[in-house]
Amino acid sequence: MMLSRLVRSSELYMARRWFGIWRDGGVSVLRDTIFAPCTGGVSSQSQGSSVFSYQQPSSVAVIRVSGPHALEVMHTMVDSGAAAGGNSTTTSLSSSTTSSSSSSSSSSSSLSLGVQTHRMYVRSLYHPFLEDNTNGAKRVLDYQAMVVFFKQPRSFTGEDVVEFHVHGGRGVVQGVLDALMSFGNHIRPAEPGEFTKRAFQNGKMDLTQIEGLGDLLSCQTAAQRDVALASATGLGKDIVARWRISLIRCIASIEAVIDFGEDDIEPGDVNAVLERAREAADGLYNEIQAHVGAAPRTEMINEGIRVVLVGPPNVGKSSLLNALVGRQAAIVSHHAGTTRDVIETALDVNGHRVVIQDGAGIRDALDDDIEKEGISRILHAAKHAHILVVMSSHDMDHDDGFQNLTELVDAAPCVLYVKNKMDLAGDAAAKSSHGEETLISCRTGLGISTLINAMEKAVKQLTASPPLPHGTTPMPPVLHRKRHLRHLDNAAHALERFKHLTALELAAEELRMAAQELDRITGHIDVEDILDTIFTEFCIGK
Ligand code: GDP
Repeated sequence: MMLSRLVRSSELYMARRWFGIWRDGGVSVLRDTIFAPCTGGVSSQSQGSSVFSYQQPSSVAVIRVSGPHALEVMHTMVDSGAAAGGNSTTTSLSSSTTSSSSSSSSSSSSLSLGVQTHRMYVRSLYHPFLEDNTNGAKRVLDYQAMVVFFKQPRSFTGEDVVEFHVHGGRGVVQGVLDALMSFGNHIRPAEPGEFTKRAFQNGKMDLTQIEGLGDLLSCQTAAQRDVALASATGLGKDIVARWRISLIRCIASIEAVIDFGEDDIEPGDVNAVLERAREAADGLYNEIQAHVGAAPRTEMINEGIRVVLVGPPNVGKSSLLNALVGRQAAIVSHHAGTTRDVIETALDVNGHRVVIQDGAGIRDALDDDIEKEGISRILHAAKHAHILVVMSSHDMDHDDGFQNLTELVDAAPCVLYVKNKMDLAGDAAAKSSHGEETLISCRTGLGISTLINAMEKAVKQLTASPPLPHGTTPMPPVLHRKRHLRHLDNAAHALERFKHLTALELAAEELRMAAQELDRITGHIDVEDILDTIFTEFCIGK
């Protein structure tokens, strides 16, 4: 009885200690207020008055301001009543509410200056200091702009945030940016990823969510979006949190035995505690391995499924590439050996990025060193293909050029056999597909849709979830990055070592090491090494 009570209170203590750090990770310090355009293809930032290179005009542009002075900035720029250079903060905005994106309309969200959080107001925007040349009133920067205030901590960054939704012409956006710049005094342009960095520092997101958000900003296909969304919305974070709780329970129970003193506890009790911890560690080990095993699938989704066209020269590989992508991506010629470099072009196949590679035709090397190099390049690409398309044509001898492909065909995850130039065959031949060969004609388009269907089927199979080990919860493989895999691997090794230990102190230490590896994934510890790398990949305004 006493032991179980001790275990329970120890668990509670550990949980408080760990989650206390987790929750209080964000440090509240007085920071500069930062601003940046969030839309319109912001490409670079330079010091001085022209703060951003704002490239593409759009119908609406959003400029975000975050930090302790955000509300003051908002009031100053929407306040038409004050004279230029004034700093009036008395305007009430509540009369022009157009919509409410927040369910909260309680008095707590009603701010002292009459602005409600999470509400949009339609307002003209004014330069805080410059006058109109004709009447001496504040200079108008835009009309019918929409302005929204997010009171901290219920904002993207966790700070007070104001967004100006303005007409997207360069002149308007630049005017607003210049106006923001003119505030001086701790109001400055944001660096790339700085809004997200603040969100992280204020405990709004963990590292896996930030990585997911980065992927969401750069995703090109539906499949990439789904993986990114899963990470950004916290699936990776939740998985790791669940694993941590399980580890904390194990550590707590073992530490309770250590604290209580092994000699004062029945040996059966000690064994039972260890046995329970081993079972939990086993389950965790299997789950981690399942995630590690599924990571290449996510990498394939993100990087693209590689389809490599191989076969002898002149069978129509370049013609097929062009037919698939619908443009003249590769040179087509009746001269054998035209294609030397590997030509690569991407397609969206049913929401998946597919990268098609075409290269030199494979034949016994002649004296041409450039062609030899071309052949070695396409063979190298073929080695890494997810789908190998082995091409022949109706007008060639069956075995021509295929001698070197046996090993590649055996190693490829998926192989599609294609016979081209069926327009040269008789009608009967064109209709009789033998074996697994797809009969096509790049010239007439015959069979191309059948080949595309076969590709779609292969893509579906390759990207489908693999069967999971017994008792493992199926999850999208969100922990797929190299750094995730490194820490998952280390954690799995620590769990493996734990299973073979009987000395309680050593056993608990292995579990602690496993927990630390998980903490590195979420950025709970050792975050400084990784932060800069992550945020330099972010654009300005995010
Ligand atoms: P590669 O060397 O395998 O890339 O082959 P190419 O795509 O350059 O084509 C070689 C020659 O075959 C060119 O003259 C093409 O016009 C021709 N060709 C390609 N596809 C077909 C086809 O379906 N029917 C016929 N009759 N000729 C084709």
